[in-house]
Amino acid sequence: MIDPNDKDFTVGIVGAGAMGQGIAQVALTGGMNVILHDVREGAAEAGISAVLKRLARLVEKGKLDEKELAAMRGRAIAASSLGEFSACHLVIEAVFEDLDLKQRVFGEIESAVSGDCVIATNTSSILISSIARASENRGRIAGLHFFNPVPLMRLVEVIRCPETRPDVVDFLVAVGTRMGRTPVVAKDAPGFIVNFGGRSYTTEAMRIVHDGVATPAQIDAVMRDCCGFRMGPCELMDLTGVDVNFPATQVIYSGYNDDPRLKTSFPHRLLLESGQLGRKTHRGNFRYDDKGAMIDPPSPDHVPGAPAAKSVVLCEGGDALKAFAAALGLAVLGSDDGKSPLLASPLGEDCTAFSVRTGADYRRLVAVDLSADTSRRVTVMTAPGADAAARDGVAAAIIASGRSVTAIKDSPGFIAQRIRAMIANLGCEMAQIGVAAPDQIDLALKLGLNYPLGPLEMAETMGAASVLSILANIQALTGEDRYRPSAWLRRRASLGLSIATPD
Ligand code: NAD
Repeated sequence: MIDPNDKDFTVGIVGAGAMGQGIAQVALTGGMNVILHDVREGAAEAGISAVLKRLARLVEKGKLDEKELAAMRGRAIAASSLGEFSACHLVIEAVFEDLDLKQRVFGEIESAVSGDCVIATNTSSILISSIARASENRGRIAGLHFFNPVPLMRLVEVIRCPETRPDVVDFLVAVGTRMGRTPVVAKDAPGFIVNFGGRSYTTEAMRIVHDGVATPAQIDAVMRDCCGFRMGPCELMDLTGVDVNFPATQVIYSGYNDDPRLKTSFPHRLLLESGQLGRKTHRGNFRYDDKGAMIDPPSPDHVPGAPAAKSVVLCEGGDALKAFAAALGLAVLGSDDGKSPLLASPLGEDCTAFSVRTGADYRRLVAVDLSADTSRRVTVMTAPGADAAARDGVAAAIIASGRSVTAIKDSPGFIAQRIRAMIANLGCEMAQIGVAAPDQIDLALKLGLNYPLGPLEMAETMGAASVLSILANIQALTGEDRYRPSAWLRRRASLGLSIATPD
């Protein structure tokens, strides 16, 4: 195999669609020769010319040198057939997402290239091993999964099959780096890293909606304001399109033999069946105008109907709860006066279970989620039959301290604990089954999905023992295997080890 940094390095790209063009662009800016082919008459030429136009715009913006662009023009070729691929050192397949088609195209590529040419596919949802099934020399086949739009998305996943040679993996990591991307190496498995690891964010949000605990607007506000996500899960679903994320969820769910951790809920299916696909249909979890701006988004903020409480009684919670009450200016009573709200901050328990376990009067019990950032928004939760004045007394005190309140129905784990614990747990499970190394999982989800923290970093930040308690309590209360803790998490939390500790 040639050195991927050789000045004559030539990459062939099959499929001149959105991804093929994007890959051609980063290959050119990486100084490679590019040969682009598409089965559609004129598509390869049109693809090359579109790429060169985009690069010319970079020259206008002063981001690319005129001379460099001239050199790129000389290094970009549109090929009418794969016969012109014989000099390629690497071929990347980016045709439609169809297994039969990809297997056929792989056969054609194999007969067109030399014996040491590496062959990669950009598939996002098909196992690389299925595409390579009929190939003769599987050691040189791997996945090279770019993200859309390629020039803006820094991440590339290098996917190794059981038969992929280690030097081929190293070769593709070097190619990805030369293309200006950040490569992460993953095992051939449903959804690889990003599409697998990203499932919890939206499926747990849909589950919270399904359970009647909170609305999409409330969930999004909590995930943005308390957990640092740039977009809430429900607006994200609307942006990607339910016609895209529902089938992707199902493929990964069935790819992992219907693991309940990966299951989505009925509200997700209802959006699909009713054609409320998100921004593209002007309706999804929210409503949108022609420009994609949200119309009349429902407020996530609770408006209290009672004045601020003056005092509270603390139920467990320790120093964090004491400090929270003090910051609200609430007097903390040493003994229950029978009137004041009972303030608690449970982990993975709902108010009902907390009240039964501790004997706290459920009518005056007000739970606040202190597991995430409370400087802008606080989630409050009450049991069925609770006294609205107790909740609103606490809510009004929080609002008076300059923060917003999201008031939700009783739920083990509130919103933030549930979603973050599910993300962290799935990241741990990915490490456990060897999809990728912990640092690669974290990097991939931060770069691929803009997460504020990778899933394992999230577990570390929340505290592995806390995440374990949240999940164990939710599993105990719901009886659902969806919430079963990963062995990776349980072992490290139980032994007091860092979550990144290898096996
Ligand atoms: P696209 O529909 O924009 O382009 C596919 C191109 O392949 C078309 O131009 C088509 O003419 C061409 N093609 C079809 N059959 C061919 C053949 N036999 N030989 C040569 N060319 C052929 O699709 P896309 O969005 O660029 O996706 C391409 C691949 O990348 C898919 O496997 C997809 O899953 C994957 N992918 C897509 C995205 C995305 O967001 N679009 C992200 C990551 C990966």
